[in-house]
Amino acid sequence: MNEVCEVTGGFNERNLPYEVPEINPEVLDEDQKEALYVRIEKLLKKKDAVLVAHYYVDADLQILADRTGGYVSDSLDMARFGHESDASTLVVAGVRFMGETAKILNPEKKVLMPDLGANCSLDLGCDIEEFSKFCDEHPDRTVVVYANTSAAVKARADWMVTSGSAVEVINHLKDKGEKILWAPDKYLGDYIQQKTGADMLLWDSSCIVHESFKGSELEAMKKAHPQAKVLVHPESPPSVIAQADFVGSTTGLINYAKESDAKEFIVATDRGIFHKMQQAAPGKVFLEAPTAGHSATCQSCSHCPWMAMNSLTKLAECLEKGTNEIFVEEEIRKKAVVSIKRLLDFAKERGQVIYGANDA
Ligand code: SF4
Repeated sequence: MNEVCEVTGGFNERNLPYEVPEINPEVLDEDQKEALYVRIEKLLKKKDAVLVAHYYVDADLQILADRTGGYVSDSLDMARFGHESDASTLVVAGVRFMGETAKILNPEKKVLMPDLGANCSLDLGCDIEEFSKFCDEHPDRTVVVYANTSAAVKARADWMVTSGSAVEVINHLKDKGEKILWAPDKYLGDYIQQKTGADMLLWDSSCIVHESFKGSELEAMKKAHPQAKVLVHPESPPSVIAQADFVGSTTGLINYAKESDAKEFIVATDRGIFHKMQQAAPGKVFLEAPTAGHSATCQSCSHCPWMAMNSLTKLAECLEKGTNEIFVEEEIRKKAVVSIKRLLDFAKERGQVIYGANDA
């Protein structure tokens, strides 16, 4: 059952069409953790596997990815690293659409995940049948979807974009006179619409983590930290985006923190990113943007409950047993790869490296 946050009402007061898992972090002492690191390191070698992790998973997994020659990044960059890696097996510590994207781009490789139940509210909020119906009702619109969608939704789309590439792609389509059907994140869609002035019809879905950031509390926090720069991921509500010094993808936020002269930052995205931010900008102070949820029971509180399903023990088990493999039907994969490749070709034509500069 989804419970209502006692303090804010939270996202759970809405009638969500899916269950939100509770966050139950794995508790390990240093010896147990080290034993798991050693066990997983051996398994990775034995299985010819490499670990690719998202910025939002717990620091223990990010540390392990770095320590074993794996990689920590955003979803598309994770898939790119997997593609370039010699390993025949990719272990994806993240959420399901990331495993699927890795498989779509690397069909010849085995893709495993610590927990196949690790999903994403944006993916869950965009059912393929309803989405197809929506597209069929608007045949005059070019269908552009965010990376945080199922393989089937990507297969139904004309374009897949990331948060770092969306504005440029939509500007390009607008210049060609195209009208857009956008899915699934309404806040990101609204942000892009504001930036481009394009004719965009938005699907109604949101990220339960970013949606929980609160504009009024952020205003108060800014007063208490007048020197701090505010970094915001564009999946956040407009009242939060409006107060940002910088709006960008996960990779963009990390780069901004690194390059900025500021010493203090208020960050409106999943707190898992703090591990890499602190590595990239040592000595700087990062504060979680307010969700009014620190003392509450709402399940976001700046951390994705699905990302939190990844753990060292589950990772060791999926590697040991070869379970939790990601499969994408070949017919769907072939269509989905077209919408992804459109973005990659678009970036290439413009001399941009879309991998590593963008994210989901
Ligand atoms: S943080 Fe939001 S967008 Fe990212 S995986 Fe979790 S629910 Fe999806």
